[in-house]
Amino acid sequence: MKRALALLATILIFFTNSSFATFPVWEYAIDPLILEDLHDYLVLTSKETLLDASYIPQDLVKVKVHATNPGMELRQVAARALEKMFQAAKEDGYTLYLKSAYRSYQTQKTMYKNRLEKYSRDDGVVAFPGSSDHQTGLAADILNYAWTQQDGMRPEFSETKEAQWMAENCHRFGFILRYMEDKQEITGIIFEPWHFRYVGLECAEYIMSNHLSLEEFTQEVKDAIMDFEQLGGDFRLYCEELKRLPPPIVLDNEEDGEVSLFYTSP
Ligand SMILES: [Zn+2]
Repeated sequence: MKRALALLATILIFFTNSSFATFPVWEYAIDPLILEDLHDYLVLTSKETLLDASYIPQDLVKVKVHATNPGMELRQVAARALEKMFQAAKEDGYTLYLKSAYRSYQTQKTMYKNRLEKYSRDDGVVAFPGSSDHQTGLAADILNYAWTQQDGMRPEFSETKEAQWMAENCHRFGFILRYMEDKQEITGIIFEPWHFRYVGLECAEYIMSNHLSLEEFTQEVKDAIMDFEQLGGDFRLYCEELKRLPPPIVLDNEEDGEVSLFYTSP
């Protein structure tokens, strides 16, 4: 039924807006306008894709949750989402504590230097400056009370009820588990069951239900855009065309409970 509706939507678009006839069908599960990522919510930081030393998010705000230190900041959308997640956890009987949020390039550089001096090598625990997810202002380290009393953070945190609740529910608030246990080879970072990263609701839902790392997701998106362009489409132009359409109408499909989005013609 979903496929039939999608086909119908495509046909509607083709017949009601002739400029769309020149584009191939967008096959990937996520809306191109989300993947266009004008707000940088999907930004990927890793050793291969470093953020510039001068990159400072412009919309940092204080996060109003239980925290180990006062005054921690995140980008506005992530801060509000995190507050909702903490509230929902509380309602389910779990109290969460924010341990770390936005970190500047300079702070990361100092942390990295200190770690290097202490252990005489890069042991992969502190991220290389520019590669930290925390520099995006979209990442948060979250613990339960018992673990805030411990010296460091270790993968065994995953055995706690709080970590399990977060892994199961983070996507509802637009967050993903950024460094999964079986993705260490891909991310280059150890399993961090405390580290959550905001990517927005649609992408978080997709990434968590398909059990992907952000690296794998980014590659999927690149491939989807490449496929689209190999079929003759121009992704940027396609997004511009989509933006010229009125917002989609949500239609409830009573038969199987699925919801489909229809773009209407102008
Ligand atoms: Zn972290």
